[in-house]
Amino acid sequence: MAEREHEHVRVAVIGSGFGGLGAAVRLRRQGITDFVVLERADSVGGTWRDNSYPGCACDVPSHLYSFSFAPNPEWPRNFSGQPHIRAYLEKVTDTFGLRPHIRFNAEVRSARWNTDELYWEIETAQGALTADMVVSATGPLSDPQIPDVPGLDGFQGKVFHSARWDHDYDLRGKRVAMIGTGASAIQIVPAIQPTVDKLTVFQRTPPWVMPRADRKITRAEHWLHTKVPATRALRRQLLWSIRELQVSAFTKRPKELGLVQALAKAHMHRAVKDPALRARLTPDYTIGCKRILLSNSYYPALAQPNVDVVASGLKEVRGNTLVATDGTETEVDAIIFGTGFHVTDMPIAERVTGAHGTTLAEEWKDGMEALRGSSAAGFPNFLTIIGPNTGLGNSSMILIIEAQLNYMIDYLRQLDVLGGRIALDARPSAVHAWSAAIQQRMERTVWKTGGCDSWYLDANGRNTTVWPGTTAEFRKVTRQVDLAEYEVLRTQPGKVTEDAGTTVEAVA
Ligand SMILES: Cc1cc2nc3c(=O)[nH]c(=O)nc-3n(C[C@H](O)[C@H](O)[C@H](O)COP(=O)(O)OP(=O)(O)OC[C@H]3O[C@@H](n4cnc5c(N)ncnc54)[C@H](O)[C@@H]3O)c2cc1C
Repeated sequence: MAEREHEHVRVAVIGSGFGGLGAAVRLRRQGITDFVVLERADSVGGTWRDNSYPGCACDVPSHLYSFSFAPNPEWPRNFSGQPHIRAYLEKVTDTFGLRPHIRFNAEVRSARWNTDELYWEIETAQGALTADMVVSATGPLSDPQIPDVPGLDGFQGKVFHSARWDHDYDLRGKRVAMIGTGASAIQIVPAIQPTVDKLTVFQRTPPWVMPRADRKITRAEHWLHTKVPATRALRRQLLWSIRELQVSAFTKRPKELGLVQALAKAHMHRAVKDPALRARLTPDYTIGCKRILLSNSYYPALAQPNVDVVASGLKEVRGNTLVATDGTETEVDAIIFGTGFHVTDMPIAERVTGAHGTTLAEEWKDGMEALRGSSAAGFPNFLTIIGPNTGLGNSSMILIIEAQLNYMIDYLRQLDVLGGRIALDARPSAVHAWSAAIQQRMERTVWKTGGCDSWYLDANGRNTTVWPGTTAEFRKVTRQVDLAEYEVLRTQPGKVTEDAGTTVEAVA
């Protein structure tokens, strides 16, 4: 093969959140140093860099929402806040010597599979390179979604998304609209309610909210977790086990969630005395159908005199007046969108072109699917971290990420064992069979039977985001790459093509 004139790496990782940084650590631990991490921003952290809104914190206890290989005995609270999680990721980056691998301000603009050379051609904001393998860790909740509301362009006040908080804008004394009542909104509302003059919450669908068992982690606990690491491991194990035991209620026996629903109702009754407000805040679907939210301060904030809950979505903006679908009109100075992210239409999918000349977005136009949550057919040597049907409703996404990283390492090992210039392409039959089995399991889940419309569902009403099992099961099914599920592609120097001097043939 002719000597390459461009930079080539073995692995190009896209993104430097938990997924990308985790991939980098695992690669280095495997002795693989020929890789880069391409990050569009100017620092690491992903979710925990971009979401700096007041009150931002994780919903899963920190001792579980962290890497198994990088325990942190110093977590300040059960549910640590965004600054601490971001600092943790910065520390992981330094501790594991990842900085030399990271290219900041290097947004990936396109990645195209070269079928002759069996590598990815990647265009970034910092130039081009090629890679044997791409690990896409661009995050499912990374690109904010602002609905296309008629008249929004004419609004004279301040507008921003929760994931792009404008810290220069002073909310004191302002009339503010919070659009949406999802996981971010319910953290923002109690954080800003005491500051603003008036807060109007536009609620299309009320969430079920449970108490949040948050507290400071004591000095004694810190000491114990530092001096006796087994106690830290035990704590993680307990947190994990409790969540594993909850899974079957979500996936097989939604009726068992009745008791949880009663607890959530009692939680609301304790804080909201006004029956009319309670009626507006009571969901009409089974708990768990949409993500269960945790907060001790959301309902008390909604009960404050400077807060209004409009039980309707935002339909239109007329000047500085917001018009809800139910006709309610509210004049505001600022609009904060807590309207989520492009989850089932990931922007990176439009930028990745596979072996058949089509983009991942085109392949996924009827719904995302990927073998074991990682490999799409026609996209050789391309793995998605937190790909289709890998999301969790009740536990830590870091468990899923680490399982997928096991798969990545085994994938690279299999390429090594097979030897030569080689690629693995998921067989369409294997991908469809995997996806069909998941969809069949989905039928009994609360996400399907619970009577709600959620961001877990795509435009066709299919749940292509959530994993319908335990994390232990996911770990098991991603432990090893099953070569029978892949076509093995090789360049064959003996067979010369017109321009590349190589041809590609399926050999398995
Ligand atoms: C507010 C909030 C709270 C959350 N709380 C929890 C929780 O409590 N528990 C839980 O399990 N999960 C939670 N999540 C989900 C969370 O997203 C995941 O747990 C995890 O952080 C995802 O990590 P990631 O690396 O896959 O993605 P991200 O953290 O989103 O990182 C993706 C990175 O890719 C970069 N990127 C994207 N596109 C490109 C491109 N084209 N080129 C180069 N770089 C690119 C982005 O800049 C970003 O740095 C929360 C999410 C949000 C938004």
